[in-house]
Amino acid sequence: MPKPFTRAEVEDFFARLKKQNPSPKTELEYTNPYTLLVAVALSAQATDKGVNKATKALFQKVSTPEQMLKLGEKGLTEYIKTIGLYRGKARNVVAAAKLLAEKHGGQVPKDRDALQELPGVGRKTANVVLNVAFGEKTIAVDTHIFRVCNRTNLAPGKDVRAVEDKLEQVVPDHYALHAHHWLILHGRYTCIARKPLCPVCVVRDLCRFKDKTKELPPEKPKAPAARKVAARSSKH
Ligand code: SF4
Repeated sequence: MPKPFTRAEVEDFFARLKKQNPSPKTELEYTNPYTLLVAVALSAQATDKGVNKATKALFQKVSTPEQMLKLGEKGLTEYIKTIGLYRGKARNVVAAAKLLAEKHGGQVPKDRDALQELPGVGRKTANVVLNVAFGEKTIAVDTHIFRVCNRTNLAPGKDVRAVEDKLEQVVPDHYALHAHHWLILHGRYTCIARKPLCPVCVVRDLCRFKDKTKELPPEKPKAPAARKVAARSSKH
């Protein structure tokens, strides 16, 4: 069993991720809480890049549940058919718009239970919306965060809920607002699934993963993680 992180190590872990990217942002594009909700719902099993490509035109036409209802399921399908599982997603997005219009005055509720009542909205989507749109200290555990937390032993757990609960216990309050994005970006660009980029990882001496890579894949340029983070920071 790898050694659990001490409090000082957890502090150090997040301090380093923060130094690398002081104000992390979601890579999904949105214009208000409603379009964020739609973008997150569309992003299940799809890349943020693919979702952004589809929503660029959609969000110029639709930014409220009422406008989504006007567009309708068939109309929405035309915008999102490049995204995986688009038929089911279109059905859910329109059904959610109906509920938002009828029950919440067209506003996205700042409440976990109310969010999770919406068709197609699970705990992960609700956590992202609460965090990004309303500034709540929630951590939505996706595949990247699940991998990073188990590999490093920062917050191990057998399923996403166990990891979320563990993160709630161990993440210092002053890092809780951005922990979600730091961990996702770390998993997406450095602690990648197949061959993590351990030689350029800023937390490698804290990480407990026993199979750390010793060299970067030859086809990758040096330190891609650092460059991507720098490029993103300059855009926001
Ligand atoms: S050292 Fe390697 S396995 Fe550990 S967090 Fe960094 S990239 Fe991931």
